[in-house]
Amino acid sequence: MTQVLPPHEARELILSRIAAAAKSAGRDPGEVTLVAVSKKQPEARIEAALAAGQRVFGENRVQEAEARWAQRRAAHDDLELRLVGPLQTNKADAAVALFDVIETLDREKLAKALVKAMEKTGRSPRLYVQVNTGEEDQKAGVAPAETAGFVERMRRDYGLAIEGLMCIPPVEEPASLHFALLARLAREAGVEKLSMGMSADYETAVRLGATSVRVGSALFGPRESA
Ligand SMILES: *Cc1c(COP(=O)(O)O)cnc(C)c1O
Repeated sequence: MTQVLPPHEARELILSRIAAAAKSAGRDPGEVTLVAVSKKQPEARIEAALAAGQRVFGENRVQEAEARWAQRRAAHDDLELRLVGPLQTNKADAAVALFDVIETLDREKLAKALVKAMEKTGRSPRLYVQVNTGEEDQKAGVAPAETAGFVERMRRDYGLAIEGLMCIPPVEEPASLHFALLARLAREAGVEKLSMGMSADYETAVRLGATSVRVGSALFGPRESA
């Protein structure tokens, strides 16, 4: 067993590694946001991260996130909540009501549901398109070859501005290939932000242009099993 640092120490370490990786690539560390992926983490660790100043959190399930964050929102008006897991259309209203950023837009049916939910709630979360860079059957996301066209249709047919692209590389392949691909697709699609890199590879992602990294276990320790 590796020893688990308390969240405030782990956070300092991760932020310093992000800064070093950014500088090594000639980037400004201030361009990179640490998204603390708090899914399935005990309450005490989340409180510790908040106390350490962490304000951007990622969740992969709408209901779990509601239970965890609805109250805390009232106490911290500077929180930013990001949905990083798949979204079913029947949860679009709840997702738009809770999240500031939805990173997993990947189909037109969902775009339609999001537009309706935005009209209903008067909220407009920032949107990322998830790209299935490894073209894996079991994984969500638009295919790389369809990304620029999909982003264009979001703008033209739905009036949705896409802020960034997001990917989860296949576990058995070098993540760097997928990060470089996502960066190229973003340039082609005219999209600014890149959500890529997790606990095992966030430094690589930063060197390849990530503007946000999604870090769970390296920050909080191992997750509770579901
Ligand atoms: C769980 C999760 C993460 C965090 O994973 P770690 O390996 O614990 O850092 C990042 N992104 C997504 C989409 C996730 O579901």
